[in-house]
Amino acid sequence: MKNIERAIEKEIELMPKVELHVHLEGAITPKTFFQLANKNQVKLPCENLGDWEKYFQFKDFQHFIDVYGLAVSTIKKAEDFSTLIEQFFQYQESNNIIYSEVFLSASFIIQNFRNQEILEAIEFGIKQGESKHKNRIKLIPDISRHLPETQEQVLEFAIEGYKRGVFFGLGLGGMEVNYPPKLFRETFKEAKRNGLKVVAHAGEAAGSESIWGAIEELAVERIGHGIRSLEDDRLIKYLRESQIPIEVSPTSNYRLGIVTKDENHPIREMIESGLLCTINTDDPEMFSTNLSKEYKMLSLQGFSLEKLYQLNKNAIESSFLEVDEKMKLHQVLDKYRNNKNSIKP
Ligand SMILES: [Zn+2]
Repeated sequence: MKNIERAIEKEIELMPKVELHVHLEGAITPKTFFQLANKNQVKLPCENLGDWEKYFQFKDFQHFIDVYGLAVSTIKKAEDFSTLIEQFFQYQESNNIIYSEVFLSASFIIQNFRNQEILEAIEFGIKQGESKHKNRIKLIPDISRHLPETQEQVLEFAIEGYKRGVFFGLGLGGMEVNYPPKLFRETFKEAKRNGLKVVAHAGEAAGSESIWGAIEELAVERIGHGIRSLEDDRLIKYLRESQIPIEVSPTSNYRLGIVTKDENHPIREMIESGLLCTINTDDPEMFSTNLSKEYKMLSLQGFSLEKLYQLNKNAIESSFLEVDEKMKLHQVLDKYRNNKNSIKP
């Protein structure tokens, strides 16, 4: 590798980053789930850690769902959430991610735990994380759309957490096809009425009608994935004019076959169309990625360092933080860049 490429890689790795689309359960290492399984006496289909680590890697969508289910099944006690949250702080910090907005699979959680015990455990995990690490996180519980019957309970959980200062939004994830946004209209309306920010995965497995649904039925403030917006010129125009931020997760799209392996990621076209895009990992441990790798991949696909900084700045601007907090993050990033005497693109 040429020196210049190595220098760019280093600069990307050390760049203070912001991430807006990452699932807590997808950012926990297989080792942690293995330890939890041992502690909670949950049987995994692997005898040792090495086999489990191999099993954990993405193969296809069905396998991904199976792994996700198994991983979540190792969480048996409310206190386990404190451990996961603390580990997440460490995980993001090790990737130089100074601020993250993080999804939590609430449809699963509420089936097995009482709201109060989970909220206490999460609160404790956040306090521990904040005392030991410099980075910050904010949590967004999400409804798994293929479990629409859980939506009212998730809403109640989200509002309770919001009042406690533990959550600040409501998300919509899971299987997009067959579960259109309109099924969740009343729930999202109520969430907004209570002050929660609202976001939804849309335009990943399903087409542009799903993104229109998220905008028109749910009044979302950001869109998860959104890459299939490119199929609809009217939608592109709307997204350009409204500047609704889009949380793009390139490796996730390749892994799930939304984008073909040997083609460049359509994010370039999205940006050239004037859309406000950010870069994210989605489920980094399951997709064998991290945020630096995402930026490096775009660098290899011809993005200049200047453009990569801009994408990171887009993430700061698109976060749900207050203006003064965004300003602080911009300052951290600008300071890094100036001190770095950055390689000119
Ligand atoms: Zn996601």
